[in-house]
Amino acid sequence: MKNNLLKKKSRLNFIQKIISKDLKNKKCDYIQTRFPPEPNGFLHIGHAKSIHLNFSVAKKYDGICNLRFDDTNPKKENAEYIDIIKSNIKWLGFKWKKIYFTSQNFEKIYQYAIKLIQKNLAYVDQLSKEEIKQYRGTLSTPGRNSPFRNQTIQENLILFEKMKSGYFSEGSACLRAKIDMSSPFIIMRDPVLYRIMFIEHHQTKKKWCIYPLYDFSHCISDALEGVTHSLCTLEFQENRELYNWILKNIDSINKPMQYEYSRLNLEYSILSKRKLSILVEKKIVSGWDDPRMPTISGLKKRGYTPNSIQDFCNRIGFTKKEHYIELDLLENCIRNDLNKSTPRSMAVINPIKLIISNIPENYKENIFIPYHPKNHSMGTNKITLSKEIYIDKSDFSEYYIPGYKRLILGKKVKLRYSLVIKAVEIKKDKNEKINSIICICTNLKNKTGIEEFNGIIHWISNKDALPAKFFLYDRIFNVKFPELKNNFLNYINNKSLIIKNGFVNKNVLKNKNFSTYQFEREGYFLLNKSKTDNKKLKFNRIVSLKQKWKK
Ligand code: ATP
Ligand code: MG
Repeated sequence: MKNNLLKKKSRLNFIQKIISKDLKNKKCDYIQTRFPPEPNGFLHIGHAKSIHLNFSVAKKYDGICNLRFDDTNPKKENAEYIDIIKSNIKWLGFKWKKIYFTSQNFEKIYQYAIKLIQKNLAYVDQLSKEEIKQYRGTLSTPGRNSPFRNQTIQENLILFEKMKSGYFSEGSACLRAKIDMSSPFIIMRDPVLYRIMFIEHHQTKKKWCIYPLYDFSHCISDALEGVTHSLCTLEFQENRELYNWILKNIDSINKPMQYEYSRLNLEYSILSKRKLSILVEKKIVSGWDDPRMPTISGLKKRGYTPNSIQDFCNRIGFTKKEHYIELDLLENCIRNDLNKSTPRSMAVINPIKLIISNIPENYKENIFIPYHPKNHSMGTNKITLSKEIYIDKSDFSEYYIPGYKRLILGKKVKLRYSLVIKAVEIKKDKNEKINSIICICTNLKNKTGIEEFNGIIHWISNKDALPAKFFLYDRIFNVKFPELKNNFLNYINNKSLIIKNGFVNKNVLKNKNFSTYQFEREGYFLLNKSKTDNKKLKFNRIVSLKQKWKK
């Protein structure tokens, strides 16, 4: 764990420094940012970083942050994603001023394309996609001019009109900017501005069969909306050349400034909508909102809180350095948040029966425990001690294990908040499987003096035990950097979900205020509101109590 990440950062980050300077130098007199998702999948934790940056920067400088759907590729987009993205941003705790769609500006963007043709700065190319690629050249060799590059302005205007009216088939023509086929920036070698797609758009329906590319529409949308700082991830660094070229040549009055920061990479995760959608399509997960997914919806369903995600974004900070963030950091953020607000209770996930032979059959002793060790206003939980209780299978061993701090046959252990017991006998079934453990208690109420015992274990009495299903979630991948592998599908952790049948304290049904619990020694769990077929309660494990992923 990088200790400096654990200390909250309060200094200005490099983006804030740039903005302060831009304001000081009168490059702008207000601040406006935008979060610009493509509605082609669910948002992931990487997007949370971008949301956090755009909204918090606007807030810091009394500016505006809008939400803009960059909806220029109807092949991949879906109106359903728009609603999810909006609700995710609200859930994270951010409020946009306005919602824009790039598609609202299709007519204006089209007129700007015509303007570029009229300035002899764009042409209709009829090379195939493959040929365009070949003509582009490489980092060490310049590109070649397309044979269509020297068409007259008039010819280009007619051809572009034909593109718009559906004359050409998909892929047989496109509009390209006329810049420089030998530019050291490959992006500047006559980039494609418009392509043909005979696909109904979720917003504009059948109105268009030509769609602007991201590079053309993004800067124009920023300018039309009055964005001052267009913040994006580092892979767009080279695109900045083109961003500025387009704004200059369409004679835009507004000149938003693009600045780049490093994207979030997270260990054991994949942060790419395209790759995440493969996990969904191949049914490796139950959906985009599966609690193992690094999506905002998945994290929410798992039991993460908006606070914990904001805290995470604050701690990782914003820099230009590409690196991986440890999963421990994200998990520590949710632990820190839940630790403050979550009631404690006991649950037994892998139950085994334990009978205390020397207490009477109907013995019942109420024990009152504060729900939170520090926050007593959360109230008190009542648990019952009885003759028959459940403990976790992993807390018992028939044989001596050095250093084992739990119950061993012939040794003593303390039941949390209650008695010290000694295991005296094991009952097994005909298959030699342990049925129950017989114990005697060695410090019934009236006994004084301190007893020696091996350790303290959690338990639940059969009087309190309510059957529950536990969904123990783990990382989807079993390697730290699945994103760097050729085929990430070869590294799926097939134990990423283990379902167990155990018991919780029946009081969870009474506490309508609490849906998250810290089950002592087990972790933080979220009560899943949907019940199983046989009406059993379901609990998602949000996170264990301790860091697991050692280096
Ligand atoms: P993906 O590769 O997952 O599809 P994307 O960049 O295509 O991501 P967009 O919907 O275009 O997804 O992203 C909206 C904004 O979020 C962009 O400004 C993008 O730079 C930013 N963003 C996307 N992924 C990350 C990330 N991992 N870390 C930080 N910001 C990100
Ligand atoms: Mg994108």
